[in-house]
Amino acid sequence: MSTATLEPPAVVWYRHPAPPKRRVPNWLITAALVVLAVALFFAGVGAAGGLVLGFAVLTPIERLFRRHEQRVRRPGLRTDLFHLLLSGFAATACLIVPVVIWTVLLIPVMPFAPATWFASLSLWVQAPIALLVQEFLGYWVHRLQHGVPFLWRFHAVHHSSQQLDWLSGARLHPMEGAVIGAVAGPALLLLGVGPATLGVLGAVTSAWGVLLHMNVRWRMRWLDGIWSSPDFHHWHHSNHDGARNRNFAGFLPILDRLFGTYHLPWDERPTVYGINEPMPDGWWWQVAHPFRRPALAVPAVAEPTSFSVDRGTGSAAASDVSPCSSA
Ligand SMILES: [Zn+2]
Ligand SMILES: [Zn+2]
Repeated sequence: MSTATLEPPAVVWYRHPAPPKRRVPNWLITAALVVLAVALFFAGVGAAGGLVLGFAVLTPIERLFRRHEQRVRRPGLRTDLFHLLLSGFAATACLIVPVVIWTVLLIPVMPFAPATWFASLSLWVQAPIALLVQEFLGYWVHRLQHGVPFLWRFHAVHHSSQQLDWLSGARLHPMEGAVIGAVAGPALLLLGVGPATLGVLGAVTSAWGVLLHMNVRWRMRWLDGIWSSPDFHHWHHSNHDGARNRNFAGFLPILDRLFGTYHLPWDERPTVYGINEPMPDGWWWQVAHPFRRPALAVPAVAEPTSFSVDRGTGSAAASDVSPCSSA
C-alpha cells in the first residue's frame, strides 16, 4: 500500500492588478472644468455657453441622427472640452501678432487699396465677398497644412480625433489661428472688411465648423458638391487609403472639384478616423506636442479596436486598424 502522502494543492492567490492611479483624481479635474466653464461664462466668453448649448441641444440631435454608434463619453472627450474652453482664447492671442504685423506693414499702401469703397458697402454685400476670399485662401492654407511637414505638426492635432462629434471640431492647435491670420489677414485688411463683417464671418465659420464634425448622417442632396456637409468633412478626417488629403474646403466643395481633391462617394461612408502617428492625450500635451522633439514626445494613448456601424448604408465594419499607431 502506497504511503505517499497527498500534497495539498498549492493555493494560488490571484490578485487583480490595481487600476493605475491618476496623479490628479477625476473629481478634481471635473470640478476644475466646471469652475473654469462658470468663470468663462461670467467673463462673457461664448465658449462656456457653447458647451452648455452643445450638450443640451447638439448631443440629443446626434443621438437621433447618428452616423456611427458611439458613446457620448468617448475617448478624448475631456481633452476636447479643454480645447473648447481654452484653444479659442489662445488662438485669438496667436492671431493678434500677425494681424498687428500686417497692419503696420500695410499702412503705407492702404491709400491705394479698395478699403474705402468696400467699407462703405452694406454688411449683406461685404459678408459674402469676404467669405469667398476667406474660403479661397482657406482652401490653399489648409492644403499647405497637409503638405508642409512643419505646418502639419500643428494641424495633426485636429486630425488626431478617432471619433467625430460636435465637440471634436474644437480640437485645434492655437497656432492654426496665427497661420490663417498671417494669410487671410492682409487680404481682408486690404479689402477693407469692417469689424462687423469680421464678427459675422467668425461666427458663421465657427458654427459651420461645429456642424461639419457632428456625428450625423446628413448630406446636402442636390447641394452636395457645392456646399459642404458633415459627410464631406468626415471624409477629410478619414484614415482610409485613397481618401486622405481630400476635401479641404470649409464651405465650398466646388473648390475641391476645381483643384482635384474632391472625394464624396455615394455608396461609401468613412469608418476609420485619425492619423498614423503618435498624438498624446490631454490639452496641454497636445498644445506642446508640435514643439517637442520626437524623442521627447510622451507616449501616444493606447489604440482601441474600433467598431462602427454605418447607419447610412447599414453596413458594419470591425477594424483593428490603428489610425494613430504609436510606432
Ligand atoms: Zn485638415
Ligand atoms: Zn475637421
